[in-house]
Amino acid sequence: MKRIAVLTSGGDAPGMNAAIRAVVRKALYEGMEVFGINYGYAGLVAGDIRQLHHNDVGDMISRGGTFLYSARYPEFATEEGQLKGIEQLKKFGIEGLVVIGGDGSYRGALALTKHGYPTIGLPGTIDNDIPGTDFCIGFDTAINTVLDSLDKIRDTATSHVRTFIVEVMGRNAGDIALWAGVSGGAEQIIIPEKEFDMAEVATKITEGREKGKKHTIIVLAEGVMNGNKFAEELYKFGDYHARVTVLGHVQRGGSPTARDRVLASQFGARAVDYLKEGKGGLCLGIVNNEIIASDIIDTLEKGSHRPNVALYKLNQEISN
Ligand code: ADP
Repeated sequence: MKRIAVLTSGGDAPGMNAAIRAVVRKALYEGMEVFGINYGYAGLVAGDIRQLHHNDVGDMISRGGTFLYSARYPEFATEEGQLKGIEQLKKFGIEGLVVIGGDGSYRGALALTKHGYPTIGLPGTIDNDIPGTDFCIGFDTAINTVLDSLDKIRDTATSHVRTFIVEVMGRNAGDIALWAGVSGGAEQIIIPEKEFDMAEVATKITEGREKGKKHTIIVLAEGVMNGNKFAEELYKFGDYHARVTVLGHVQRGGSPTARDRVLASQFGARAVDYLKEGKGGLCLGIVNNEIIASDIIDTLEKGSHRPNVALYKLNQEISN
C-alpha cells in the first residue's frame, strides 16, 4: 500500500498521540503517504480527512488525549454508515486504515474488515478491556494516576484513622482497580470478576483495626457499583463511616508514561509494516512481552478479556 490513514475513536487514552506519531513517522519512513481522520468514525463519514506530514506530529509524543480528536458516533454501527465511510476512504485514494480505540472502536474496525476494507486495530483504552492483548495504550498512565491519588489518600486516611473507598474507572473490567490497588497497597480490592460479600468486607476492616492498622483503603472498580452506594451498603454492617473518593476523568488525562509511549510506538510502527505488505483484518497486542497480531474477526468474536486475577489473591495475602 502507498496511502493509509489513521483515526482515534471512543474514549481517549494517554498515548494515543504517541501511536498516531508512530504511524505517521513510520509510514513516511517507508515512503508511504498518511492521512489523519478527525473525530473518529464521525469524521470518516463526513470526510474530515487531511494529509499528515512529519511536523504535524512534532511535540506530540508527550501529550495526553488525541490531537485527531475523538467522538462517539453510533451511526457507524449501521451498514449505511460503514459503507459511507469506505466511500470516503476510496475517494481519498486511501488503501488501508489504522483504528486506535477501545471496544466500540474495534467493532467499527471489525465491520470495515467484514466489508473487505483493510483495517488494523490498535488497543487504546485506559480500561484495558480489549481481547488479544495483555495491555492497552493508556492503561499504564491511568494506573499511575490512580496510584498517585492513593498515596495521597493514604496520608490523610492514616492521619484520621479512616476508611476510604476509592472508586476507579474500568467499565466492566477490574484491571485498573487490581493494578492500582496492588501497587497502592490497598487493603481491599473489589472487582466485577470476583464476587464479594459485604459482611466480609466489614469483618476485614475490623480485623485490620485490631491488628493496629491506621487506615483502610478499598479500591472499588466502577463496574461493581458506585462508591456512594458501596459506602451505604457497608454502613448496614456496622458503624463504618467510609469516605468516598470518585477519581473520574482525571484517570483519562495526563502525559503518557514511558511504558505507554513505547507500547504506542511499537503498535503504530507494526501496523504500518502490515499495511505496507497489504495485510489488514488484524488487531495488535502485547502478549507475554511480545508484540503480536491476531485476526480481528476471531479475536472479537471468540476472544474475551481476562484481567490478571492472580493479583487479587496476591493482594489478599499481602495487604490486609
Ligand atoms: P470505545 O472505542 O472507547 O469502546 P465506544 O464504545 O463509544 O468507545 O465506541 C466508539 C465508536 O465506535 C462509536 O461511537 C461508534 O462510532 C463505533 N462503534 C461502536 N460500536 C460499533 C459497532 N457495533 N459497529 C460499528 N461501529 C461501532
